Amino acid sequence: MKKEINLEHLGIIPERPPSLDQKGNRKKIHPAKVRGKFKQARTLMQAFLIFIFLILPWIPYKGEQSILFDIANRKFVFFGHTFYSHDSPLLFFLISIGVFSIFLMTAVWGRVWCGWACPQTVFIDSIFRRIEEWIEGTYIYRRKLDQEPWTSKKILKKIIKWTVFFLMSSHIAHSFTAYFVGAKELVWVTTHSPFENLDLFVFVQFFTAITLFNFGWFREQFCLIVCPYGRFQSVLMDENSKAILYDPNRGEPRKTRGLKDHGDCVNCFRCVNVCPTGIDIRNGLQLECIACTACADACDEIMDKVGYPKGLIKYTSESELKGEKKSSFTTRSWIYLCILIVLILSFSTILLNRKPLEIKIVRAIESPYSVVTSNDKTIVINHFRLHLTNQTAHDIQLDKFELKDFEELENISPELSIPLKPNESKWVHLFIKFSLEKVPTGKKGVHWEISYHNSQSTMENITGEMTLLGPNTQKKKTHSKD
Ligand code: SF4
Ligand code: SF4
Repeated sequence: MKKEINLEHLGIIPERPPSLDQKGNRKKIHPAKVRGKFKQARTLMQAFLIFIFLILPWIPYKGEQSILFDIANRKFVFFGHTFYSHDSPLLFFLISIGVFSIFLMTAVWGRVWCGWACPQTVFIDSIFRRIEEWIEGTYIYRRKLDQEPWTSKKILKKIIKWTVFFLMSSHIAHSFTAYFVGAKELVWVTTHSPFENLDLFVFVQFFTAITLFNFGWFREQFCLIVCPYGRFQSVLMDENSKAILYDPNRGEPRKTRGLKDHGDCVNCFRCVNVCPTGIDIRNGLQLECIACTACADACDEIMDKVGYPKGLIKYTSESELKGEKKSSFTTRSWIYLCILIVLILSFSTILLNRKPLEIKIVRAIESPYSVVTSNDKTIVINHFRLHLTNQTAHDIQLDKFELKDFEELENISPELSIPLKPNESKWVHLFIKFSLEKVPTGKKGVHWEISYHNSQSTMENITGEMTLLGPNTQKKKTHSKD
């Protein structure tokens, strides 16, 4: 039988992803545990992000969920402030701010998002890999366990691990869903029969399955194969961008048996053992590197032990490694920053000028106007519907509705003194009555003003324009003359 040659043992770098073996099968990566300054900082950051993600939807604020994306009702709640579909310009600016922040971050600090804040890294690193380590042991035990035959001990460990993974995935899926349907609604759904809200039940189970598959098994493959950001980051970065890099000037030639005059790299492979994507950073910056800093911490530990200065693997740029003192804030970064400032200013301006009371006036769906005769006078009545939304976290009291430049107006709608609770919306009817001669052409634009006061009794006005309709009497006169 033909003997397979392991090229990696001969020091030949294979031209295939590190998570695949020579036959192209998935090679499960079990990274070693790492300690160090970056790891400490990342643990704090991850704890904060997990708190935000898992706990926030369950914490009420001013009587509402702290953050809610109520897509069905086109409503978005953010710490007591409610936004609606008509606030979509704000959403556009918010998304653009997010996109350009990532552009700027990548251009200056490389894939800092992937290593420090991406949910894929945060959940796998701080939850799923920890669970795996508690149940199956260190990376050496885990690698051994994977190669062992299916004994009862191995089966038991795998059952326990996947059960805990399932519970955790279910909690993540429920918290994620709570952002969209509301925590109260979700609790109601989970405490009642699935058949009472089958759609939501199926969605949560489906999302649990996806989470379990991704965080439990797929892991780094998502970053390597699926994530679009991983693909276009090379377009956003240049040689001045910061990245986690190995300093070959210091490290090479690596220590090998018989070589007396070697660099600082003692060839211990610790940096490879801790890498969650299985790469060797000593081969230079690679697409698979998610800038998680594990190799930098691992190498610092080794440098400490062998008595060399730390920083053989560090945050630096390719131009710095070449000895060029170039700032990572290049012209491109300044352009991104300028665009970002414009977007933030536009967003803030719209937000600050957002009216506390949103008013929409629409014509009622029956006939545009009706004509009645009263005391030998021909009267035209227009029927409108007012949609009022209190966009503040305080009560609002609507006081009066007036037409500014239109005399002899009579508003025959029911009392327009309307109370609105925080974030409450109401439809009210508005009937406007005027004599026929006032609108001889059958159409007249008029200005309206609505006065209201808030809980501090501060009076405010909102003005707008509307069109009154009636029969065109001038046209009839012209025809009769003819
Ligand atoms: S951890 Fe440092 S010393 Fe060890 S192989 Fe990696 S670069 Fe070389
Ligand atoms: S090379 Fe280093 S920074 Fe990049 S993914 Fe691997 S361990 Fe993380």
